[in-house]
Amino acid sequence: MSLAGLGEFGLIARIRQAVSDPADLPLGIGDDCAAALVPAGELLLTTTDLLIEGVHFRRDWTTVRDLGRKSVAVNISDIAAMGGTPRQIFLGVGLPADFPLTEIEGFLDGVLEAAGEYGAALAGGDTCRSPGPLFISVTAQGSVPPQELLTRGGARPGDAIYVSGTLGDSALALRQLQAGTLPQSALARRHHDPQARVTLGRQLAAGHLASAMIDLSDGLLGDLGHILTASGVGARLFPDSLPLSEPLRWVLPELLAQQELALTGGEDYELLFTVPPAQQGGLAALASAGLPLTRIGEIVSEPGLKLLAADGSLLPLPSGSFKHFGSADR
Ligand code: ADP
Ligand code: MG
Repeated sequence: MSLAGLGEFGLIARIRQAVSDPADLPLGIGDDCAAALVPAGELLLTTTDLLIEGVHFRRDWTTVRDLGRKSVAVNISDIAAMGGTPRQIFLGVGLPADFPLTEIEGFLDGVLEAAGEYGAALAGGDTCRSPGPLFISVTAQGSVPPQELLTRGGARPGDAIYVSGTLGDSALALRQLQAGTLPQSALARRHHDPQARVTLGRQLAAGHLASAMIDLSDGLLGDLGHILTASGVGARLFPDSLPLSEPLRWVLPELLAQQELALTGGEDYELLFTVPPAQQGGLAALASAGLPLTRIGEIVSEPGLKLLAADGSLLPLPSGSFKHFGSADR
């Protein structure tokens, strides 16, 4: 059976059945709006991302379950980047009429599984037929105490620049898929099933350890550029200290190629944040908690971004930080 057989309302009824509403959601799926509680005094965070088949994903490269999981994770990652706690997600889908019901169910399983892992409830959405590609629009809401909100605008000269996890794995997997090679499974997981760093984001926010934060979706150089612009500062980055995974170094033995990918590759979904000198001690305790946190540079007052080698010499900036428009393969 396909969507054509089940119908829009049949599908919504199935989604509704699969969901149970938590205490902070007095009214979830089924009415004209969802009605949710925000903890007293907290700010409501809202973010949305559109994923279009052929632009952001290919159905022959991913399972529908992973697609569902990733659609949630990339939105929750934005909540994490503000220091927030995820609360609700809303799911808009444009489904090709011949999209098999088993695929729809696999996709929904992925959405609900990931939402559950992040503590977010599916609170509503919209369902349409698409005359062509599969469309997925996820909106995520979260909340954060106002004094813990972490924006892109708080970096100050003298702050250290840190990144979580390892860089470039997802972009390498994508590059391999584009070249017709099957990526090594750890790299493929980073691309198809990224993890939003919610726990880390909350720890940094609640502990007042970071001054600015962003999640890495478009590549380190571009995303750091957003922090620099919003904060009115510049930065020095140390390419030799970029955190690289074992599989990445194995597939890509040349150091320059590794660093180029770590600097420009998209879809890492790691957190990039700046840490004032007085808070760096507090960070050490977090770093030991499993996910590596690596100091990769420092904020300076002079505008612009410079790459510095270990001996202090200036390195050229690679071009080609991911640009959404004008890139045919994304
Ligand atoms: P309306 O026409 O008033 O927007 P709909 O018939 O589109 O109502 O939706 C009915 C209910 O089902 C709403 O609560 C809506 O949020 C929910 N809903 C519709 N599609 C989805 C979906 N893909 N995922 C989750 N909830 C959905
Ligand atoms: Mg509607």
